[in-house]
Amino acid sequence: MTTTPHGHQTAADLADAIGNTPLIRLRRASDATGCDIYGKAEFMNPGGSVKDRAGLAIIRDAEERGLLKPGGTLVEGTAGNTGIGLTLVGNARGYRSVIVMPETQSREKIDFLRMIGADLRLVPAKPYRDPGNYVHVSRRLAEEMGAVWANQFDNLANRDGHRLTTGPEIWDQTMGRVDAFTCACGTGGTLAGVSIALKERNPDVRIVLADPEGSGLYGWVKSNDLTVTGSSITEGIGQSRVPGNLEGVVIDDAVRIPDAEALEQVFDLMIHEGLSIGGSAGINVAAAIRVARDLGPGHTVVTVLCDGAARYQSKLFNPEFLRGKGLPVPPWMA
Ligand code: PMP
Repeated sequence: MTTTPHGHQTAADLADAIGNTPLIRLRRASDATGCDIYGKAEFMNPGGSVKDRAGLAIIRDAEERGLLKPGGTLVEGTAGNTGIGLTLVGNARGYRSVIVMPETQSREKIDFLRMIGADLRLVPAKPYRDPGNYVHVSRRLAEEMGAVWANQFDNLANRDGHRLTTGPEIWDQTMGRVDAFTCACGTGGTLAGVSIALKERNPDVRIVLADPEGSGLYGWVKSNDLTVTGSSITEGIGQSRVPGNLEGVVIDDAVRIPDAEALEQVFDLMIHEGLSIGGSAGINVAAAIRVARDLGPGHTVVTVLCDGAARYQSKLFNPEFLRGKGLPVPPWMA
């Protein structure tokens, strides 16, 4: 990325346009807590999510290792966003993408993946211990095809991407004044990479995992108990195991956020601050508010706005879907 004397940026190619996203101060969350709460606007990435960074980091790593050659094929199991990132970066660099995804993910992500040319294989949603789980299906498919398996959960190129980009960006954008960082985990790449980068610069930065209802990670951080207790309407986050990307990473605390609390943030930010964010970003903002309340006024808390609301229009903004789940409907749509 080159920056003109007037501060405008020119990207050399798609990869160069990934990352370097703004931090947006969340006014109401900040006012309510007396802190400065910032959301990193990952929905502004070319593929619309934080996972563009992981896609690019994994592709670069596979290229450097000599695994991915011109005309090569990438296979990945994903809730959708990593598939979008991998496919777009793959398109720009001449790779084919085979994407395995649980059929329960949003219609919008499925349509988007088809639109951008991914070879999409939808599979029934199964727990990780089941051989039919999308992660295992993608691994076997990569083996059968002699293709590169991106393996975002255990491939440390994922967290390294965040260690080298997202984390240093947050440090720089807050001018080193960040007191706490919180975000939810799918692969854990974002939380792990940012934790490593921030703790290297200031070991006192508080790293808090935000977990959706039902996920095992909250219990894992709090009491080393990974029991899965329920489910959430959010996509791309929550775990029943500890992915390789989270291993050995310092996490100071965890909070568990119910869907209704996350949705309140999604709706509030939409209607009062013009920010359209997805469910995991809602969990993250709700967690940032809790962390800010814990720390007390005058602190700076950063979180991640992982992707945008349009990716979940048929769910989070569909009164019928929400009523079916016993969840609040956006007041202006009720
Ligand atoms: N939010 C959304 C919408 C996602 O798709 C993902 C990735 N599956 C995450 C959050 C979690 O990011 P990570 O994999 O880096 O933990």
